[in-house]
Amino acid sequence: MSKNLTSELNPGQKEAVLHTKGPLMVLAGAGSGKTRIITCRFANLVKKASPCSVLAVTYTNRAADEMRAGIAGQVGKDLKQCWIGTFHSQCVRILRKEISALGYSPDFSIYDDEDQLNLIRHILKDLNLYEALYKGVLSKISNLKSSLIEPKEFVAKSDGFGFEERLAKVYMRYQDELRKSNALDFDDLVMLVIKLFENEPAVLDRYHKMFEHILVDEFQDTNPAQYKLLKLMARPQGNICVAGDDDQSICRLRGGELNNMLNFENDFPGAKVIRLDQSYRCTQKILDVSGGIVSKNSKRMGKDLQAKNGQGEDICFFWLNSEEEEARHIARMIREFFLKNTYGYGDFAVLYRINSQSRALEDRFQSEGIPFKVMGGVSFYQRKEIKDLAGYLKLVVNKDDNVALRRIINCPPRGIGASTLSKVEQNAKKKSLSLYASIKGLLKANGLMVTMKEKLESFISLMEGLSSRRYKDAAELLKAIVESTGYMTDLDEPRAENVKEFIASAAGKDVKEFADKLSLASGSEESSAEGHVRLITLHCAKGLEFPVVFVAGMEEGLLPYFKAKSPEELAEERRLLYVGMTRARDILILTGARKRRLFDKLKEQKPSRFLQDIPKSCYKTIEKAPPQAARKEEVFRPAPAPLPYVTGTRVKHSKWGVGIVRDCYGEGDDAKVTVNFPSIGLKKLNLKFAHLEKIH
Ligand code: ATP
Ligand code: MG
Repeated sequence: MSKNLTSELNPGQKEAVLHTKGPLMVLAGAGSGKTRIITCRFANLVKKASPCSVLAVTYTNRAADEMRAGIAGQVGKDLKQCWIGTFHSQCVRILRKEISALGYSPDFSIYDDEDQLNLIRHILKDLNLYEALYKGVLSKISNLKSSLIEPKEFVAKSDGFGFEERLAKVYMRYQDELRKSNALDFDDLVMLVIKLFENEPAVLDRYHKMFEHILVDEFQDTNPAQYKLLKLMARPQGNICVAGDDDQSICRLRGGELNNMLNFENDFPGAKVIRLDQSYRCTQKILDVSGGIVSKNSKRMGKDLQAKNGQGEDICFFWLNSEEEEARHIARMIREFFLKNTYGYGDFAVLYRINSQSRALEDRFQSEGIPFKVMGGVSFYQRKEIKDLAGYLKLVVNKDDNVALRRIINCPPRGIGASTLSKVEQNAKKKSLSLYASIKGLLKANGLMVTMKEKLESFISLMEGLSSRRYKDAAELLKAIVESTGYMTDLDEPRAENVKEFIASAAGKDVKEFADKLSLASGSEESSAEGHVRLITLHCAKGLEFPVVFVAGMEEGLLPYFKAKSPEELAEERRLLYVGMTRARDILILTGARKRRLFDKLKEQKPSRFLQDIPKSCYKTIEKAPPQAARKEEVFRPAPAPLPYVTGTRVKHSKWGVGIVRDCYGEGDDAKVTVNFPSIGLKKLNLKFAHLEKIH
């Protein structure tokens, strides 16, 4: 490793980088340099060996990109082909090569959250089950899958009462539909690699030989399936290095498993454990405040962190009157720091518990001209026009992808309506075919009405035309899709711009690799946000670091979240807050509001109970007086009219047709409504000018 890098490591870090034989666990608190150790270890290991002999697992694609760039700078080798990525992207890479051994075709599609939800909704409808439950059903299925419980086993364990049995039925059908579509969801990616390695020892042996070392960052959040995969891959050499912080385990409810950290020493006998006790990121006061909160948790491995950067500034908690006032206050502080020239806009992050909290902040920042980016909101890749084109692209690669086909068969509209599709679906079900094959079968059988036949024929010939050509890159295929479908014809200007940007981003990329990248990109990873204040949920803030961090909504009901009731759930909320607070390097500011609109109701809020766990010596409360004057004014002023729409109301718009209200807020002329129109996606409208018609 280059000399300057070892010299920047403390003795504990250096030991972790240089301990290269046998299992190693680095157990240390926030900002202690765990990620830096993983990066340096990689660089050190590949100095003499091939870059492909080390497998590094990171938590997000973005973290993987940063790591790759950092290492490339140190070793001066081409790292394009090296194995740095998330569990999912590594599994995709293995499966694209090996999946035929499991009887799948290597052209499988990958279903992201939205694809999965679409599929579950379709199944619930087909089974006549209550559709609104789809999100809960999906997360239950995902938990079963990440715990490696297959549908067959779950049926056996079913309690014989209602819900479990229905869940078993949906789970069984869901797996069946995935199989028919030649599609894998994120959990399958891991499950199938495990299956592959268990069933095919020769294949496993090849990977054992290839990967001499395995490195894992954010180990505290690996789920049981991922941990099992690590155990399979790390043997027989046992050269596995994991780095984690039990206090930052925040995916437990999504299958993350703290036990992995407790089990590591048993599963890898002779494992060396290195603890680090210096934080290079946070000031001592930030460590004391965040440590105070998490110290109330009972099951902890325990750590004592000291800040390298000294005591730092006091931490302030601002108790404000409303969410608007909170947003105004945060905007004002950001502006003051900015004007004093101490920080650029890119140095700030505002963290919050739930997505809808970003709304007041967005409105405020927008009106004050503060540049910002919401991370983890509707990302570029989740926009309707991008998802549609990605649907075509996926269908070109894998004709059996039913979710993609359902999405685009009538988009842009080509007269293939619900009744035609239902005929296609029924035929597919009866003959156990994919929808695409079902259409072809129906056309061959010649039993269709002429108009229906013509439309389906022209759809098939469009798709066959697209697949029959060879494309230099994914951009060329996307251009062909846009041209042959006329997709851009009715698109408004911003959406057309998005499509152009999307096509440009596909230039020079292999079609299949580009399709994988799209499926694996997640909302929290919106690309560059340089020079922008970042708005992020606490869950998406893991691994990040900012000079100034605001944690907004320090209130009961948000922190802890109102659904968290059991001691385990409350412990997870504390860890989530700990993760958020320790993203701050110099300054941490906490805010809360007396009144907040939550789930369509204006609520009186109380300060978070977690504030009582903070040592009084390191923070102060600054309370804004309740608005007396405003209250008096209210007596004379008529109360604002209640908002006309609650979430879920069906409305009609003259241009975009029927949609469902997602949100309605603001007062008088400022009232806004967000509506999801199936024809174009989410739209934020000024209530006064939207001229919506309520439909009952
Ligand atoms: P988290 O628990 O939040 O993931 P971490 O333990 O992975 O944190 P890093 O992100 O690796 O910590 O490091 C935190 C910060 O401290 C980074 O800015 C990193 O560059 C810096 N840092 C780490 N080790 C050293 C060191 N020995 N000397 C100087 N700076 C360091
Ligand atoms: Mg880290």
